[in-house]
Formats: sequence, structure tokens, C-alpha cells
Amino acid sequence: MSKISYVNGRYIAHRHAVVHIEDRGYQFADGVYEVIPIAKERIVDGDAHMDRLESSLSALRIAMPASRTVLNTIIQELIAINGLKNGLIYIQVTRGVAPRDHKFPRLTKSALIMTAKSTKPIARDLLENGVSVITIPDLRWKRCDIKSVSLLPNVLGKQKAIEHGAFESWQVDADGNVTEGTSTNAWIVKDGVILTRPRGPEILGGITRESIITLAIKNGLPLREQAFSVAEAYEADEAFLTSSGNYILPVIRIDEKPIGSARPGRITQNILKIYREYVGLLD
Ligand code: PMP
Repeated sequence: MSKISYVNGRYIAHRHAVVHIEDRGYQFADGVYEVIPIAKERIVDGDAHMDRLESSLSALRIAMPASRTVLNTIIQELIAINGLKNGLIYIQVTRGVAPRDHKFPRLTKSALIMTAKSTKPIARDLLENGVSVITIPDLRWKRCDIKSVSLLPNVLGKQKAIEHGAFESWQVDADGNVTEGTSTNAWIVKDGVILTRPRGPEILGGITRESIITLAIKNGLPLREQAFSVAEAYEADEAFLTSSGNYILPVIRIDEKPIGSARPGRITQNILKIYREYVGLLD
């Protein structure tokens, strides 16, 4: 079965799915995106992803390309026609197609594409043995809460991690505090308390992050939304990272320094189990 994507009103074979060369997303990164996990054919945290899409678009004054109902119908259609069991729906909305000019075009309809990607279960090795991260300066702009397709510092940061044999780079602000990963939120555990940076313009409000906060509170796990420095991260008992693509992964080394016993910690494993249960991935 060939993979099917959605491009501006049409379901189309993925290999033929193209957009216009004057799409402003292509020329100016003038657009936003969402990545929505699908677990056992079910959308995970769909409403929260739609809320974030709406707020990113509104921050850039781009119109919603269709109602939530229509967007949800397209997602369901892509899940069905691609036979997607576990994977990711990618949504991108740009300000549309117009002759290249920095100012907003007067009469342009926002452009919408969606793709469906099937993913394998998270590798047992990563879950059981954890991953390494490195730290890098945060080079991004002052509105990282907008899920903009302008991802150059994130791309460079991830590549640097890979070249250092790490899984992710944690970005660090001018005060020496960790903001977030290049495509993940960052967490540590110290003296039994889970810490993650509060929401604000310096980080993307991760949907996985939000669900974990809710689940931790519900399960009586001590948690504080509080920034932590790189020095504090080195001294942490445990660390982990979160995103829609990987859910939760234990972090066992930061800049090659072992965190705790350099094994996934007890609280991390607990939250991982609670979250996987919530998503419906525990058999
Ligand atoms: N921060 C950044 C910079 C990201 O790109 C992502 C993933 N899109 C996240 C955090 C995690 O967000 P979510 O849990 O919604 O995938």
C-alpha cells in the first residue's frame, strides 16, 4: 500500500505530495507545525495538540486552515487509509502561497499539509539503559513557545549531539539554566522531587510535559516547575527527557558525566510506567 499524505484539500500518494515553491513556509519559515502521537490507532492528547496549534497560529496571526472538526476528520482519515497503528501525525500550516515579500500578503489562504508516519515501539535498549545528552548554548529567538517551523538552531543542536554520540542536546540560557532539548523537554530529579522548567517564552510547552505533570500530581509524586542549572543537572539523582515522538526516555549521562548511578532511576521508571499506562502502551 502506498503511503498517503494530505496536501491542501487532497489525499495524495506521498511520493507525489508537493507544495508550491512560493509557499511562505519554504521561503520564510512562516508557519507552524504539530506532531501528534498515535498509539494503538488512538490519538494521544488530541485536544491539547489542537489547542497548541491554535495558539501558535494566533501568535503569528495565521488563520486556522480549517475547523478542529475538519482537522480531526483528516487525521482520522490518514490513520485509516495508511493503516496506522502506532506512529505520528505531522501537521504543518503556513501563511500560504504568495509572491516573495516579507510583509504579510493581503489575500492568501493558509496552507495545510499532513503526513502520517508509522513508528516502531521505542527501543527497549533506550528505555532500559537510558540515553546521553550534551549541553549547548541556546541560540534561539525569544518566542520558543510558538511551535514554529523555523528550527535551524534545533537542527544544528541535534546534529551536534549525534556527532558526540549523544541522543539529544540540552540548550542552556545566558544564566546557565537548561531551557529544553532540541525536540524534547528536560527534567531532573533531586532529593525525590521532579523538576522541570516552568512554561514561558523560553520553552515549548510540551504536551507530553503537561500530561506528565498532571499524572505526577495525581499519583502523589513531588514535582516543582522550577528552572535548574547545568551544575544542578550534573548533581541530579535522575534525569529524563520527554516528547511526543519518544514519550519518556531516561537520561543517564550529561556531558559524559554519570547522573546518579548512570542507570534509569526509580522515579523515572515509575513515571515512565504511569505514562505508558496512560497512553495505553502497556500490555
Ligand atoms: N521542545 C521542543 C523544542 C520540541 O520541538 C518538542 C517536540 N515537538 C518538545 C519540546 C516536546 O513537545 P511535545 O511533548 O509536545 O512533543
